[in-house]
Amino acid sequence: MEETTNDSDRRVGRRALLIGGAAAAVGTAVLARDELARLWWRTPGVEKPRKEGEVDFGGARWVAASSANWRRADRPDDFGVDRVIIHVTQGSFKSAVKVFQDPGHGAAAHYIVGKDGRITQMIRELDVAFHAGNRDFNERSVGIEHEGFVDRPEDFTDAMYEASARLTARICARYDISVDREHIIGHVEVPGTDHTDPGPHWDWDRYIPLVRAAAKRDAERTASPSAGAGTTAASAGTSAAADAAGRGA
Ligand SMILES: [Zn+2]
Repeated sequence: MEETTNDSDRRVGRRALLIGGAAAAVGTAVLARDELARLWWRTPGVEKPRKEGEVDFGGARWVAASSANWRRADRPDDFGVDRVIIHVTQGSFKSAVKVFQDPGHGAAAHYIVGKDGRITQMIRELDVAFHAGNRDFNERSVGIEHEGFVDRPEDFTDAMYEASARLTARICARYDISVDREHIIGHVEVPGTDHTDPGPHWDWDRYIPLVRAAAKRDAERTASPSAGAGTTAASAGTSAAADAAGRGA
């Protein structure tokens, strides 16, 4: 944007700071998110570093899916991400993890949320998971599975809704996705699908407000602790060192 070619050294410097602060930056301020969007996630040609076992959501545990069930990508640089797709596993948490590890399954989602609220990430958000049954929607979405059966409303517990909403709120913040039913959809709503999940018992009227509430909590949490967080990105350029020190804490 306002970056010029003369700025490239500073840009690299700032990028390094961001990498250093990555752990703190994951759930970080809306302000920092703007910086990330401009300098990091969306800087073309920058290969994002990957570390074995790294997760995109702080509360998730990593279990790798079989590489046959996803395609390596560099989102959101090569494909923009503008949808979250909600699934139901039609089985237990354990069985979902198992089939996503099976190279013969041919499908897997980025995340699985359990009835108890635990979250396992199996594919990086950078990559294209085969979960929607539609190439375009695979490329543009993050897929979240939920443990249970579509015809058993009791499977969709409070803990599951809460955990899933926190996860979806972070995903929407990361890619500037609107928290609404146009952008947070069920598998059943993917064009051409023959799947019915998450089914009629998934409570959208409950879920979307929970996502909004989680997003609001995140914004409040990240806006309040650091003094000066209300300053603009322009000042972040001149106070990068101080900023990074704060972030690394
Ligand atoms: Zn599905």
